[in-house]
Amino acid sequence: MKTLKIAIQKSGRLNEKSVELLKNCGLNFENYKSSLISPVSNFPLEILFLRDDDIPEYVQDGIADLGIVGENVIEETEVDVAYLQRLGFGKCSLKIAVPNNNDIATLADLNGKAIATTYPVILGKFLKKEGITSDIRTISGSVEISPGLGLSDAICDLVSTGGTLKSNGLKPFADVMSSEAILISSKGSENNDLIQELIQRIQSVLRAKE
Ligand code: ATP
Ligand code: ZN
Repeated sequence: MKTLKIAIQKSGRLNEKSVELLKNCGLNFENYKSSLISPVSNFPLEILFLRDDDIPEYVQDGIADLGIVGENVIEETEVDVAYLQRLGFGKCSLKIAVPNNNDIATLADLNGKAIATTYPVILGKFLKKEGITSDIRTISGSVEISPGLGLSDAICDLVSTGGTLKSNGLKPFADVMSSEAILISSKGSENNDLIQELIQRIQSVLRAKE
């Protein structure tokens, strides 16, 4: 049978839990930080370690059959993939946050304001749905310092505990989306026997945790 490939984050917030989940499924592989690909010795599977941003497209294009990535990244890249299983880790929310002292009281007050984000697609859809026209400033990181630097009036960023917002003088203002890690596959490959076997194993690991 054809060897499957699963893409997981190489390093970062989802790496450890993704590796742990696969190991708990009984898969044997070396978790070398330096290698891009690790073969599984007891299942026809290879693990690809990638930046999370690249995972949705790799899966959509069939370079990887499966992937573990945050819902936020899937939505932002607007790929067409199959959602197989929510995984219960990597939970966070994409929120609009504003400086503690400000004149923004309702969503409508964001009209004409500059919002810094690394999620322009998701934010753009949210604002459109709410009938609000803001100036979306796409930046590649350190979004939370942008209001303090006078670069934006608000931000839209991922929040888990809220500690980062607080230490930058910001407060959560509106929820845009909530997210967790998800197992995805290329469209049409959901019914592959090996993928079904993996889903079964993952679901029993998740059930044992409940
Ligand atoms: P990479 O180097 O792979 O591009 P990254 O810096 O983009 O990594 P991480 O910060 O490791 O990404 O976050 C990976 C995912 O973890 C996020 O896309 C999100 O789904 C989830 N996550 C959970 N909590 C948070 C949080 N507080 N801030 C950011 N991401 C979070
Ligand atoms: Zn990333």
